[in-house]
Amino acid sequence: MAKNFQQIMDEARKEIKELSVQQVKDLLERNGKHLLLDVREGEEYRSGHLEGAVSLPRGFLEIKVESAVPDKATPIIAYCAGGVRSLLAAKAMKEMGYQNIISMSGGYTAWKTAGYKWVQDHQFTPEQATRYSRHFLLPEVGEQGQAKLLQAKVLMVGAGGLGSPSAYYLAAAGVGTLGIIDNDVVDLSNLQRQILHSNDRIGMAKTESAKQTIQALNPDVRVIPYQEKLTSQNIMGIIKDYDIIVDGCDNFPTRYLVNDACFMAKKPNVHGSIFQFEGQASVFYPGNGPCYRCLYPEPPPPDMAPSCQEAGVLGVLPGLIGVIQALETIKLILGKGDTLVGKLLCFNTLTMEINTLNLKRDPTCPLCGEKPTIKSLIDYEEFCGLRH
Ligand SMILES: [Zn+2]
Repeated sequence: MAKNFQQIMDEARKEIKELSVQQVKDLLERNGKHLLLDVREGEEYRSGHLEGAVSLPRGFLEIKVESAVPDKATPIIAYCAGGVRSLLAAKAMKEMGYQNIISMSGGYTAWKTAGYKWVQDHQFTPEQATRYSRHFLLPEVGEQGQAKLLQAKVLMVGAGGLGSPSAYYLAAAGVGTLGIIDNDVVDLSNLQRQILHSNDRIGMAKTESAKQTIQALNPDVRVIPYQEKLTSQNIMGIIKDYDIIVDGCDNFPTRYLVNDACFMAKKPNVHGSIFQFEGQASVFYPGNGPCYRCLYPEPPPPDMAPSCQEAGVLGVLPGLIGVIQALETIKLILGKGDTLVGKLLCFNTLTMEINTLNLKRDPTCPLCGEKPTIKSLIDYEEFCGLRH
């Protein structure tokens, strides 16, 4: 026998517990364990919602709820605008095995009318909503994650082989502020791998070329160019304004400088390095794992450490490693996934072997060990045997 709407609602009320907004507020204050599930449309959620609520529009509920809430014993409070959609959503979820679900009667409208706390997420322009739509679809990113990316400040050390792909993807992803430090100009021999630059920019400062490419890709990104060499004198003043430092440098003095400064400033350092066909990546996160000096206490003698200019490099390799650096940076910003903190990823492009080694902090490390001897920045050219 066909049921009318009233009969469907009456049935749902028999099966699903409803609480008033006052009761929900009391329950949340007594025990914060309930998952708040907002089943309204995305547009409604964006205009304001309960703090911490997960958005799962009614139309996608059955399709998405099992990945969003895998544990069917999770205590859940569902709400919509007025209490009807959430009641029906709760009934559908109960039929799927969710054992502990409550519907908030009166919904968000009653909650707001009662004067209880609500929050509004970052407001995206229509263009941003389209640009980042594929991120919005991922529960691990979503609108909140995208807002974090737009608010993030990342410093790229170098706009060369590693910095190019890394900055390009960070810009595409909507990382809102990208500082880029590089004192070099674009050279024809760079273009085999440094994809931020182009033929018509030979002779232009790399920072300026990088800025033009990034802004053509995504005008949301503010590029702050530093057309200078990173030194012991300027590094602390520059990195203090950034959340994460991406090290795409091509020489040992700068690598040790970035490592030491990031440790002293307590900033995560997303490391990448390349040699011919092999690359490495890691994340050195002060207080959460080893630093670069734990791995390599001493730099190699200068004649054992040829640069790309001297030893050559496969153009795709810095692309791979730089993109891994961008990926790690995005995960750090989002606070999602397992990062390369305490791990060294080694990529051999000739054999296609990828190994991830576990790293431990070295208690004898002169920087982050138990009895540190390096307490301020040093002369890194001298340390690397480059000053005669
Ligand atoms: Zn260390």
